[in-house]
Amino acid sequence: MKNFFLGVCVFVGFSANAQDNFAPVFTKINTEVQANAKAYANLKNASETIGHRLTGSANGAKAEEFAFYLLKSYGCDVKYQPFEVESWNRKTIAVKVGPNNNALENVRAVTLAHSPVNAKVNAEIIDVGNGLEADYQPLAEKVKGKIALIYLGILPGSAKGTASLHRSEKTAIAIKYGAVGVIIINTVKNGVLLTGTASVTGKLIPIPAVCIGLESGMQLKEKLKATQQFASIEMTNFSGLIKARNVIATFKGTQFPKEKIVVGGHLDSWDLATGAIDNGIGSFSVIDMARTFKKLGLSTKRTVEFVLFMGEEQGLLGSKAYVADAKKNKTIDQVSFMLNYDMTNDPKGFSTSREEMEPLFTAWGADVAKLDTNFKNLFLAGASLHSDHQPFLLEGVPTGGGAGGKLPNNSGPFYHSDGDTFKLVDEQGMKNTIRNGAILAYALANTPKIPVGKQTEEKLEAFLISQRLKEPLKIAGEWRWKD
Ligand SMILES: [Zn+2]
Repeated sequence: MKNFFLGVCVFVGFSANAQDNFAPVFTKINTEVQANAKAYANLKNASETIGHRLTGSANGAKAEEFAFYLLKSYGCDVKYQPFEVESWNRKTIAVKVGPNNNALENVRAVTLAHSPVNAKVNAEIIDVGNGLEADYQPLAEKVKGKIALIYLGILPGSAKGTASLHRSEKTAIAIKYGAVGVIIINTVKNGVLLTGTASVTGKLIPIPAVCIGLESGMQLKEKLKATQQFASIEMTNFSGLIKARNVIATFKGTQFPKEKIVVGGHLDSWDLATGAIDNGIGSFSVIDMARTFKKLGLSTKRTVEFVLFMGEEQGLLGSKAYVADAKKNKTIDQVSFMLNYDMTNDPKGFSTSREEMEPLFTAWGADVAKLDTNFKNLFLAGASLHSDHQPFLLEGVPTGGGAGGKLPNNSGPFYHSDGDTFKLVDEQGMKNTIRNGAILAYALANTPKIPVGKQTEEKLEAFLISQRLKEPLKIAGEWRWKD
């Protein structure tokens, strides 16, 4: 999944905060990463020897072992955090469309995750535009028993400021209005097909959901303006409980061992390609941040955990398991900050959910900017959903990561597609993520006092509302506050 911030971006440059003099260590980290980062080579190796890293598949288990033994080989104190999940894998799919059931033609399509194990629907198609609540108002009962055609993003010509929803939230709305199937039109040119979950809960959905290419989708919309269109969707999929493992490398704190900085990135990927950008670049950068800490023998006042989550694509399963574990053994309050690296590349600054962090982040950033002219000391404050920071955010834990990066080699359009392969990866972009993350983790783990703590339920509710996250959380059934 991607990390989108609704944020405030500030460009600042002034000297380091008196209480912290981390510049010498920042310099060491910078030099070590520039000279010896192994992330690019490791990702290349994993892409070639393992392939995709889908949770619950044999490849997924190999990826967990690959990360575990790599961290071990760097001398890290590493462990598995096993968890059990309902996993989903695609099997067969056939989608046909036409003016009537005797004139249906094949359309290239990909199944969206958590579609039923078996589905066979044949029904009239109804165009629901962007698939937002507002699109259903004028259609009322007309959606019932039909297959909803939904544009993944926001259609050109839509009302200004229309905010999109995640494909899983759009599918949930279609289900609510009685659709018997969902066809989602991808936004990327040249027939690129995207996969990803269509479930807001991570559980199976009651109707089949598929993605078709932009061109065939727009053609279908045109035809629907003139005549009725019908579709048949037939699919089989696997769904069942599987075991997966987060991989955790721990650097115990010397002074405040019970205060923890969690630095994470999901290692799992979808199965259409090798998940190079989503999230090979993030997860293998996190592994190399740990390698750098070990190589330089960095000691930190607070404990730092580098965590490779699994199950992110299937619904944040690994990070939810981590947080559930921490709540169960009453250590969630020990998590002082969570940094997440999901599709982060070549960051130009630091981001966080808590704007109060600006003075510290920009003070550290000013030192980094002296070392690395590529670094613009951007500061971004705001919150989003749909990546592994979410379970921490919903516990009121401050979150953060890189800011202002750009995906390499125009790789954005290949997100979750059969085009997300290693040739898209940029080595220097990964090095910039590694030094950015290692420096921020080191500073957070050593600054005398982190000026923000866990939000109270009241503060968190107000914060989530201010970030326009109430509606998507309600759709997902994750809004625990009274209306
Ligand atoms: Zn991702």
